Amino acid sequence: MQRRSRDHFDASTIPDDLAPIATVLSQMLPGDWRSLRPVIDRRKCVQCGLCWLYCPVQCVTPKPRWFEFDLKVCKGCGVCAQECPQRAIRMIEEVG
Ligand code: SF4
Ligand code: SF4
Repeated sequence: MQRRSRDHFDASTIPDDLAPIATVLSQMLPGDWRSLRPVIDRRKCVQCGLCWLYCPVQCVTPKPRWFEFDLKVCKGCGVCAQECPQRAIRMIEEVG
């Protein structure tokens, strides 16, 4: 059997409108599109740190007497509320 060499792939033959490719970095943060936000009941919090441990975007910050959420970065996934053993975190709807 005879082997045929393949032509080199020419990227310039790909049409520009085949798939849009992001070329400009978006300044948007999760806080701009989140639909739910966590609210902590400080009276219930026992500072176990599980919300801090499980938050997938690491936006939970320890404060002297409780934990706080960076709402610019929080994506509203609700993992913290799910994992809190004290049920100290509620997810409420964003308004506006
Ligand atoms: S998981 Fe709940 S009890 Fe634990 S630190 Fe977070 S808010 Fe407080
Ligand atoms: S809702 Fe999700 S992203 Fe926001 S603080 Fe809780 S775990 Fe982190």
